[in-house]
Amino acid sequence: MVGAGLSGCLMAVLLARRGCRVRVFERRSDPRSRAADHGRSINLGLSRRGMTALRAAGLLDEVLAHAAPMRGRVVHLPDGGLGFQPYGTSDDQILRSVLRNDLNTVLLDAAEAMPGVRFEFDAKLTAMDKSKATVECLFQTAGGVRRVLSETVIGSDGAFSTVRAQMHRGEPADYHQEFLPWGYKELSIEAGPPDERRTDPEALHVWPADGGLIVAHPNADRSLTGTIFLPLAGPDSFETLRTTEAVSSLLADRFPDLHRLVPDVVEQFLSQPVGHLVTVRTAPWHHDDRVVLLGDACHAVYPFYGQGMNSAFEDCVTLDGCLDRNPDDWAAAFAEYQAIRKPNTDVLADLSAENFIELRDRLASPLFLARKNADLALNRILGNRWVPLYTMISHTTTPYADALRRSRRQNTTLAWLAGAAATGTAAAGAVLLRNLARRVKGK
Ligand SMILES: Cc1cc2nc3c(=O)[nH]c(=O)nc-3n(C[C@H](O)[C@H](O)[C@H](O)COP(=O)(O)OP(=O)(O)OC[C@H]3O[C@@H](n4cnc5c(N)ncnc54)[C@H](O)[C@@H]3O)c2cc1C
Repeated sequence: MVGAGLSGCLMAVLLARRGCRVRVFERRSDPRSRAADHGRSINLGLSRRGMTALRAAGLLDEVLAHAAPMRGRVVHLPDGGLGFQPYGTSDDQILRSVLRNDLNTVLLDAAEAMPGVRFEFDAKLTAMDKSKATVECLFQTAGGVRRVLSETVIGSDGAFSTVRAQMHRGEPADYHQEFLPWGYKELSIEAGPPDERRTDPEALHVWPADGGLIVAHPNADRSLTGTIFLPLAGPDSFETLRTTEAVSSLLADRFPDLHRLVPDVVEQFLSQPVGHLVTVRTAPWHHDDRVVLLGDACHAVYPFYGQGMNSAFEDCVTLDGCLDRNPDDWAAAFAEYQAIRKPNTDVLADLSAENFIELRDRLASPLFLARKNADLALNRILGNRWVPLYTMISHTTTPYADALRRSRRQNTTLAWLAGAAATGTAAAGAVLLRNLARRVKGK
């Protein structure tokens, strides 16, 4: 396994459970022996898919012990007002926020405790040859280049995967990488007084603004970790905002309550590095029974639906299920895994890009809110026969592509309903409501 990040560690646990000997090589130092990384998202929203995968590996309770619940979004409006949008219609429809480092530590400890699993840190894959009888990997380590032979190599080495690049060498492979012209920086927001809604520790916080966006997750100690997204170049961008005056004036203008909540926000802004956001679509995800990719290595997405890690965890349990069904034919297992997952993660890439526009431009719009409220109201009335897209993505394990198809059907019906309401015809409304119940029943 190359990469001891989130998917690599979970997959190591699942493989060890089926009796495999697993060696995990990681280019960084052991995260348990150093401070958490800066410049990367340091807390993540765990939703139903991720929790279901962690439960399957017997690790959910331990992860949740480090997590803070998020019951909805607190929206910090550009005029200084505050709004709240619940995540769902029932108490179990909540997300959990967890520090990346805490999560990685739980997963590393669990994998390391399994018989047959060994980690090697500070070992960076630099080359891989899949043409030999056993796959040959070369790792750069402090002691020089190490040569390792393995029957199978799993690439869980993230969006800029070396395993993927080496596996695709000489093959007719597809690879599409798209950078968002926006980047991000992290901001730490101290815990506020207990009754301060502006730092509510049980919600995700969003500051939608013209040409900017901040999203902040709560931590178990009631502080928030924020991520400010801005264009990389052009006016009011990371490229141009380089002085205290420029940063201070932009933040005061776009995010009016931020200075009060984060007195040193300008210093933080100027001292943090800029992170980049990338979408990756690629195929194939495997080479025979010898190499296979997991998580961001095969489907990195923008973080705006909070699904990158969740879908990476879903990959692990899906692959584990494929190995169950094809115990003696790993090439077939890998092919089945790609066939199940790729159409869904392609849809997730689109949804994640669309959600950027939703968070940035629509969250403060009354029309958008009315649409969201109508969706939730219909879900309350019709239960499982009407499930908003956000609910299907975040609070169920419905495959992403099925969720999108069903949501499109619901939207068409909602448009009919709106038409009936506009014409004010009660009879038409009744017929449409009956149709609605029929159309969405059981789908
Ligand atoms: C700003 C931001 C916010 C996010 N928020 C969320 C969220 O709220 N919810 C969510 O579900 N997802 C979120 N994500 C996405 C999430 O972080 C990723 O999808 C997830 O980390 C993918 O897991 P992975 O195991 O595939 O890769 P990673 O966790 O990136 O792990 C890859 C590992 O491989 C190692 N590696 C790389 N190259 C090599 C090499 N050559 N040799 C050896 N080791 C190597 C790396 O050091 C790393 O440890 C967010 C992402 C960003 C950028």
